[in-house]
Amino acid sequence: MEIVHVAAECYPVAKAGGLGDVVGALPKYQTELGHVAKVVMPMYRTKFLYNHQWELVHEGGQQIGSHWFHYSVIREKTNELGFDLYLVDINGLTDREKIYGYDDDTERFLAFQIAVCDWLSKWQHKPDVIHCHDHHTGLIPFMCKYSFAFQNALRDVPTVFTVHNGEYQGWIGWDRYYLIPAYDSWNWGMLDWNDTINPMASAVKCAWQVTTVSRSYMDELKQSANGLENLFQYETGKSNGILNGIDTQVWDPMTDNFLARNYDRELVEKGKKKNKKEICGQFGLDPDKPLVSFIGRLVGEKAADLLPEAISQSIYQHHGKANFLVLGSGDPALEETLDHMKTQFGGYFNSYIGYSEPLSHMIYAGSDFLLMPSRVEPCGLNQMYALRYGTVPMVRSVGGLKDTITDFGDWQGFGIRFDQASVGDITYSVGRAIDLYTNRPDLHQWMREHMMSIDHSWDSSAQQYIDIYQGLKK
Ligand code: ADP
Repeated sequence: MEIVHVAAECYPVAKAGGLGDVVGALPKYQTELGHVAKVVMPMYRTKFLYNHQWELVHEGGQQIGSHWFHYSVIREKTNELGFDLYLVDINGLTDREKIYGYDDDTERFLAFQIAVCDWLSKWQHKPDVIHCHDHHTGLIPFMCKYSFAFQNALRDVPTVFTVHNGEYQGWIGWDRYYLIPAYDSWNWGMLDWNDTINPMASAVKCAWQVTTVSRSYMDELKQSANGLENLFQYETGKSNGILNGIDTQVWDPMTDNFLARNYDRELVEKGKKKNKKEICGQFGLDPDKPLVSFIGRLVGEKAADLLPEAISQSIYQHHGKANFLVLGSGDPALEETLDHMKTQFGGYFNSYIGYSEPLSHMIYAGSDFLLMPSRVEPCGLNQMYALRYGTVPMVRSVGGLKDTITDFGDWQGFGIRFDQASVGDITYSVGRAIDLYTNRPDLHQWMREHMMSIDHSWDSSAQQYIDIYQGLKK
């Protein structure tokens, strides 16, 4: 099959979170299964762009509102990522350093989607499926079906839409209706949700199939989806939850170049000890105490707002028997608080405010526990990286965390689970972690070896997506 993935992120080209990891890995595994998987994304000004060779494959022009724009599509020459990578360059719109966060993000991603539809409609043959990821690509299923400019060429091409995060929906006021390529106004309802153009809702309505990144998240969206609950209930017949995998080539403690020492299951104790010593040295923490870390966006979804209170309570209540480390960026007030806490709790707590891929790898390897108190977690990749690096995940029972982690109190369990995103539940779980680390070293070691043997690679999930695409063939 020929699959075209369209997304705003793709590791290692540009990544802000799990979406990038998934789009950088799934096509690779689909290619290994014998299919032709391609990724199309906006051309940002990233290091990857300047360090690689490109060939021009298409140039075109289209209209966004009354504005005519020119775009070009370039392809990475060496196929280094294990699949064909295409970047869409729209002068002045896509070519920025950051992925998101500009006032004109609506125009940027709309123009990108229009350019993608325009380019695909010019192909001599048609792909077997167009797979769109999250709201930045959510209007493509609508445009393929209903936009006059594209429907003749694309209306019969199956579209699949994956919800990586239902909280962000890309809302566009109806006062900007003119930005959407012309369509029969009879179909305006396919764009609308609660009197707003809602790209996520539109994709759920128009795509041939909808998927989310775990089964539990699919169920949760029917109860809580930032206003789209009824829609997810209504479209349940064409919806599936498929758990994300991880790229086991990128995330392998035996070959990971970012680590101070590589290790596998047999060498886990020594390997983690060395990495922990390194990271504790760097952050002024005590390597003899259990190290509990958090990696992620500092936002409400991840319950990052609870970290300051939960960490200080844990330090007081458990008499400083554990160390804490936070890597993340997001809410500026929270960033500041976590920065201040470094001095207040020096020797027990430290933080790195910012984004650092190398440091994240070192923290997965050097920590004993990885804390994820998320309020919402569609799949969560961090806990799977933690498993692969022999780090015990401490997770709230929600979404993909519920689907991948069992509590060590249960039979053959290998993680720590708690029910509420609350300071009390986190502090209590830190107590369990300290007890496990201090008083039950044999069990802790067994858990490490066991979790490292769990297969969370993409092999089975990549095939599940193929099965879905096959089911859409006429
Ligand atoms: P989400 O996509 O909701 O942010 P996921 O768990 O799906 O959460 O994916 C998060 C990804 O982003 C992981 O690869 C994690 O290591 C990475 N990540 C998050 N914050 C940072 C950071 N500050 N520095 C480095 N990597 C980060």
